[in-house]
Amino acid sequence: WIEAELADMEISTDEEEHEAVALPVLAVVGRPNVGKSTLVNRIIGRREAVVEDVPGVTRDRVTYDATWRGRRFTVVDTGGWDPDATGMNLRIAEQAQIAVELADVILFVVDAVVGATDADEIVGGVLRSSGKPVILAANKVDNQQMELEATSLWSLGLGEPYPVSALHGRSSGDLLDVVLEALPETPKQTFGEAKGPHRVALLGKPNVGKSSLLNKLAGEERVLVDPMAGTTRDPVDELIDLGGTTWRFVDTAGIRRRDRELQGADFYAAMRTRAALEKAEVAIVLIDASEPLTEQDLRIIGLVIESGRAMVVAFNKWDLVDEDRRYYLEREIDRQLVRTPWALRVNISAKTGRHMDRLVPAIEKALDSWSTRVPTARLNAFLTELVQQTPPPVRGGKQPKILFATQASTEPPKFVLFTSGWLEDTYRRFIERRIREEFGFAGSPIEVTMKIRE
Ligand code: GDP
Ligand code: GDP
Repeated sequence: WIEAELADMEISTDEEEHEAVALPVLAVVGRPNVGKSTLVNRIIGRREAVVEDVPGVTRDRVTYDATWRGRRFTVVDTGGWDPDATGMNLRIAEQAQIAVELADVILFVVDAVVGATDADEIVGGVLRSSGKPVILAANKVDNQQMELEATSLWSLGLGEPYPVSALHGRSSGDLLDVVLEALPETPKQTFGEAKGPHRVALLGKPNVGKSSLLNKLAGEERVLVDPMAGTTRDPVDELIDLGGTTWRFVDTAGIRRRDRELQGADFYAAMRTRAALEKAEVAIVLIDASEPLTEQDLRIIGLVIESGRAMVVAFNKWDLVDEDRRYYLEREIDRQLVRTPWALRVNISAKTGRHMDRLVPAIEKALDSWSTRVPTARLNAFLTELVQQTPPPVRGGKQPKILFATQASTEPPKFVLFTSGWLEDTYRRFIERRIREEFGFAGSPIEVTMKIRE
């Protein structure tokens, strides 16, 4: 049974692991209710929901890995971020703009039954001037008679509308063929020292000091990075040399651009954050230590947790915190970050340069944890002993057993426990804590799931 499960899990071989490539990105845009989510489900094939043990985090994922005819790509569902009704057209245009920035190819979904609306025209305008390949899907063409409706969408000036029914799957394969043709070849870009610089996302709400930190770190040596070969999707990264190592800070244009309007809207802030995380291996979340922690700070931390990236939380403006408050602030921070005790913390000042030298070791450690693999034999020996000392609670008169455990993947580390019965959440969290204590993993999220033998 375990062997069959293991075979199913597609445990990545070392080869694959080091070849964690950045896949080409397809962004699905369109106004609410045109069928974006339905189409995305169609593209990725409905999958079982993964139960994640991260309390308090809504897992409204928006990026998915998809495969069509053997080619892999990432789908970004902008439908997950449906804007509210106020200022809708403006928001839709901004949404399209962001999709353009993060995608290699854009799939623009229009409701063929309704026809092109004002909002569709606006999006069409943004997309036309983007220079990126755009594929126009005329959705809700549920039968042949309706195909005629689709032809009216030529008016959007985006070329041929592809009639499709996301709901019934009609012509969705043809649409995917067109998408595939437009996608760039998967760039041979890889993680790891020898394979190009590590990628860092510098995150934080407006005014926490992101630009200041970036300037301090980069100094005069700032190098603006050209688009990667084969893709056009990150012309806004910067290569920064820190302590003898080159790091790639992703999406820095969004940081340098003093775009108050965009930053004001949580909706777009979240979208940019996710886009940056998508490209990064490790996130530095900047927090203003001179002010109380806000909802927005916690939301950003939530997005990092959701992304599965390594994380360093940097408390900036430490120079503004007076001596006697520091102790209490530290305790307060412990309390606030109780959900992510594993995040590495540094207290810095982008202004005075205080403790800037601690930042790099922290991100190095976080990345190291993130790609750590625990040998199966060691893991099982450790768990056997742990279970002997502290057996799982009895359920329904039965004592569940952990039969075998393995680390299914790294980046982030995921562990699977094969059990003879249900393990209580508290017990699973206990195991997670002990795995952390035993094997490190500071700065990295880890996941512990179980597979129960039926
Ligand atoms: P989104 O807001 O753009 O993500 O749209 P949804 O995917 O949530 O779809 C909105 C509504 O349109 C839902 O009720 C869907 O069932 C319906 N819908 C989506 N695709 C089709 C289609 O191809 N044909 C028909 N008739 N309805 C569809
Ligand atoms: P961003 O919006 O996150 O890019 O923040 P900025 O880098 O523009 O910083 C916002 C304000 O905070 C500016 O006035 C900075 O000079 C100030 N600031 C940034 N870092 C520090 C710091 O460590 N200490 C102090 N006292 N002020 C800082």
